[in-house]
Parts: sequence; structure tokens; C-alpha cells
Amino acid sequence: MPPSLDPVKPVKCTYKDCSASFDTLKAMKSHKKHSDEHDYCYKCDEDFDSYDDLAQHKAFRPDNHGKACRVCGEEYKSTSGLRRHIELNHKIDQKLVCIGCNSEFYRASLLTEHLEFNHCPKIPAIEFQGHIVHKYLISELLKGGSALNRFQQKISRYDAAIDDDENEGGVELNFVDPEEDADVVREVNFKAIEPEIPQESLNLPQHPGPYPPLPSTRKVSVASEISSNLGRMSISGASDAIVPSTPGRKTETPSVTHPNKPWGSGRTSSVLFPGAKSTQTPSEFSIKCHDDEMALTYGINIMNTRFWDPYSVDWNPERFLDTVTQKYSCPFTCEQTFDIPNDLNRHILENHRITRMKCPSCLKYFKSCTALMCHCESRGSKCQINKADDYSLFLDKLTGGFLAVEEKTRPDFLHNPTVKVSNPDTGRIEPYKPPVASYLQYSVTKPADWKEPPQTVSVGGTPDDQVETVQKPKPLW
Ligand SMILES: [Zn+2]
Ligand SMILES: [Zn+2]
Ligand SMILES: [Zn+2]
Ligand SMILES: [Zn+2]
Ligand SMILES: [Zn+2]
Ligand SMILES: [Zn+2]
Repeated sequence: MPPSLDPVKPVKCTYKDCSASFDTLKAMKSHKKHSDEHDYCYKCDEDFDSYDDLAQHKAFRPDNHGKACRVCGEEYKSTSGLRRHIELNHKIDQKLVCIGCNSEFYRASLLTEHLEFNHCPKIPAIEFQGHIVHKYLISELLKGGSALNRFQQKISRYDAAIDDDENEGGVELNFVDPEEDADVVREVNFKAIEPEIPQESLNLPQHPGPYPPLPSTRKVSVASEISSNLGRMSISGASDAIVPSTPGRKTETPSVTHPNKPWGSGRTSSVLFPGAKSTQTPSEFSIKCHDDEMALTYGINIMNTRFWDPYSVDWNPERFLDTVTQKYSCPFTCEQTFDIPNDLNRHILENHRITRMKCPSCLKYFKSCTALMCHCESRGSKCQINKADDYSLFLDKLTGGFLAVEEKTRPDFLHNPTVKVSNPDTGRIEPYKPPVASYLQYSVTKPADWKEPPQTVSVGGTPDDQVETVQKPKPLW
């Protein structure tokens, strides 16, 4: 029975574009109240042009509408009830861009899934996990006390050996003394304006002298492991480049001069990824890390080096070789030792990987980082993890430094004027500001131990061309 077909009655609907008419005012109001076409406030008898306007109106009239959601107009008795409703029903989409492949995600859990389940073409899952384990290990070591001391002991023999070594080049100079570190920082700053050094002149990560005995072969086995396991990264050419089967390479090493001490990790990646230009990104960040690290670890650059990870370019089992007992110590807090690096590698990969994760608030276990991230993002759950004061610290650990979070006022609540309303209890006109809702804004960050993927090379030519250039051994005589 569409009203428009009825004959005109004395009371016309107050909406201009509506032709309905009624016998009584009450019938007309009832029509407006129940019509989906009309945004009418029955309690206040006011017409609104849009649903948004009606919702806004309700939010600013606590006398008639209690605590009303200004997004949808739903009314609540308490501010907490209203906040909960907004959190559950009016989620704000995130804008999270993967630092590897630039894909965009609107939930933190979706980005996490992308990284954790190997969906990213640039950041392999194994690397993502590595960043998480790294965070975990660093926090264990930096708790202070015995863990760090023990760690220092484990590496002290190697450290001492490096200091004795006449040639200070090579790849494993993440362990530097404070004075050298000052140089490193200057160098990093300076690098941005330095002319590009021809890749061939950057040398190989080999120890020219008799000590330590095995590093070059170790390096090779690790590198080939990396290339086979991280097949998606285009480092196959690079791993060829460090195979020490080219006899000339070894003789080349001593001739290399080191005008400055190389920033160890940067050098590592330049060797493993010779096609890649050094990127500026680490510089700014490393300086901050550097400061933290100086204060906390007396010069050991553990913050931005995945020194413990057999999948990382930073990995060097020799660092954990006790030259007296000839055994390799596990870099983690377990006290296991191994006769050969391969056993140490296997031990780390088997025993120090993440298999499940626990929510520190409700103590539930989750099968994946993604599942725990979903748990964190769902504000409807009883768990209050995402409301904890140190949630951002937890998130940093959970995602291995890929995500940060900040509590912000919802954009649709930024404009929150004060209105005058009559207080039903006192009958007086009082100023009123509707409650403001906040939301958690996630943002993408770079892990402290992040190395730019090698494919950011910007010189001309196809990637294939570059690999070829890299693979050509430079004649040395
Ligand atoms: Zn109408
Ligand atoms: Zn109203
Ligand atoms: Zn609502
Ligand atoms: Zn990606
Ligand atoms: Zn271990
Ligand atoms: Zn929980």
C-alpha cells in the first residue's frame, strides 16, 4: 500500500521529496520514524538530510539520546559501552605497505600473514622468523646479568683473535671496540655522498692469514645454504662470487686497503650482494642502534646483526668457536657445544625457531604469529593485550620489528565541539562534550637488523645483466 497512491490528506510529510500525506500529525511522524528513506529523530522531532547528520545529532544530545555513536547513531547508557561498540563495529582500515614488495594491507594481521607464510616475493618467511627470534634473543641478552656476560665469554676468544689479526678487513667486524665504532658512524654518514666504489674492488670475506683456520669454507657452506633456502632472493650470483675456488681471490685479499674500518654488516651484504648499491637507509637507523648498543653491550653490534642466524648473511660460526677446546658454542642461552659448524647450524635451526607464540596477557598459545596478531587486533575479545601500556613493545617483539603501533583519536572524532544541553538531573543548561573514541594505528617499520633486499639496484640494465657482470671474475694479472 504505497502512500503516494493515496489521495492527498491534510498532513503532508515534511520531507520535500516525499509525497506521502496523512490524516494526523502523529501518523505523519510515525511514517517518518519508520521510513528507511527519512533520517528523522523521533525523540527530538527533527528532520535530517542524511544518516550521518542524524548520527551526529544524537551524539551531541545526551539528554535525549544518552551516549550515542556518532558514526551510526546507536545509543548506549555508558561511555564504555559506546567505546566498545565503536571498536567492534567501526574499525578503521590500516594502510600498511610491505617494505619488501610494496603490497598494501588494511589489517596488521594480513601483513603478518603475508610475511609469515611466504607470500612476499621479497622477504622470505625464514627471514621474517629470523627477525622475530632476533628480537627475542636480544631482549634475553639485554636483560643484563649473567646472560650477556656468558655471551661475551663465548665470543671473547674469537674477538681477541680478531684484534690480534693484522688485517682488519673481512666480514666479521661487527665486533668492534668503542673507538672504532666512532669511526664507523662517521663513515656511515659520509658514505651517502661518496662516489660509488667499483664492485670488484670490494673484496672477499676471507682471512688472508693463517688464523682462523676455516672461515672461508664455513662461509661458503652458509652462503649456499642461504641461496638454496632463500631461493626467492636473487643472491645466487653472489654466492658464486664468494666461493673460494678461484685461486686468485685469496692472493687478492691482502692487497686490499681499508681507508676506514668497514661497517661490518654493510660490508657483508656488499660481498654477498655485489650487485646492490649501498643504501642510505641503514645509516640513520644504525646510528641510533649504535648508541643503544654502545651503552648496552660495550661495543658488540648485536642489535642490527643476525649474528646467531645460519640463514643470515651475518652468520659466522667461527665467532662462537672456542679456540682452546675447538668447540662451537650455541649463541643462545643454552649451553650446548658442537664439534663442527654444521651441527651448530642444525641445532640452532631446530631448537631456536619459533613454534608457537603466547599472548602475555591471557596466556593463550597461538600456532602462528598471524594468529596471535589477529587476537591482538580483535578488540572484541576479552583479552586486554591491545590495551596494555606496553602493547607497542610487545608488538615490536611479536613482529620482529616489522610493525609499530600508536593509539590515536579516530579521524571522525577529531572535531569534537562542546555543546550546551540541559542536564535532565539538574534541569540546568550545561556544556557537553561527547566521548571521543580512539583506535590503534599500526605502521610499518624496519627491523633493526634489516638489510635492504639486493634488487633495489638502480643502475641501468636488466637484473640479469647485472648478475652477469658480477659473475665475471676480474683478471688479477
Ligand atoms: Zn515521508
Ligand atoms: Zn534527537
Ligand atoms: Zn556505531
Ligand atoms: Zn611483501
Ligand atoms: Zn642452543
Ligand atoms: Zn590474549
